[in-house]
Amino acid sequence: MASPANPSATNERAESARAEIDALCATARWCAARGWVPATSGNFSVRNADRIYVTSSGLDKGALTPDHLLEIDLEGRMTSGNGKPSAEVALHTVIYRDRPEAGAILHVHTIWNTLLSGRFAPQGYVAIEGYELLKALSGVMTHAHLEQVPILENTQDYASLATSLAATIAAHPRAHGVLLSRHGLYTWGQSVAEARRHLEALEFLFEVEGRRLFAAGRPVVPDILE
Ligand SMILES: [Zn+2]
Repeated sequence: MASPANPSATNERAESARAEIDALCATARWCAARGWVPATSGNFSVRNADRIYVTSSGLDKGALTPDHLLEIDLEGRMTSGNGKPSAEVALHTVIYRDRPEAGAILHVHTIWNTLLSGRFAPQGYVAIEGYELLKALSGVMTHAHLEQVPILENTQDYASLATSLAATIAAHPRAHGVLLSRHGLYTWGQSVAEARRHLEALEFLFEVEGRRLFAAGRPVVPDILE
């Protein structure tokens, strides 16, 4: 006879899921305070077993609470909540499918990730090497590490973006994030805390690289608007 479900283990799982949702909302508000999700942009999610809790479309992330999250399944179908799923939900489901260790995903539109993703789109990645803060990325043990953050061309066709994201993730198995050109950064982690550490480190490094290029008299952005 099957043993009965362990109610205390079930409660513990529910509590840890609630704590991650609270941490996600706090992280979204922190991003808003830093100007990283302007004009209702950006989106955030956590995974708990076969459910994903994700911000709905058009929210001011500075006021985010758990009530603003939609519950969706791993295929992106809404199972609970009020609001409209963002078109970018398709990118979250690809990352959770192809990075099974990921428990949280953060997506922000910052000035430095927008500039650098445009500047380096022709080569397909931003290369960052030789900085102490690289060690904030999981598995990186030395400042000598070369981190390549791949860049995808931006499009409003999210089905094709999801396909190219899957190919890019497969081609860069050690990447901690992916940039969309002149759009923003997706990064992830096993927990909200790890994803937030990756986000803060990558954004710091993008700014350092951007300022370094600018100080060296090299254009941060090539002739992108011709
Ligand atoms: Zn976006």
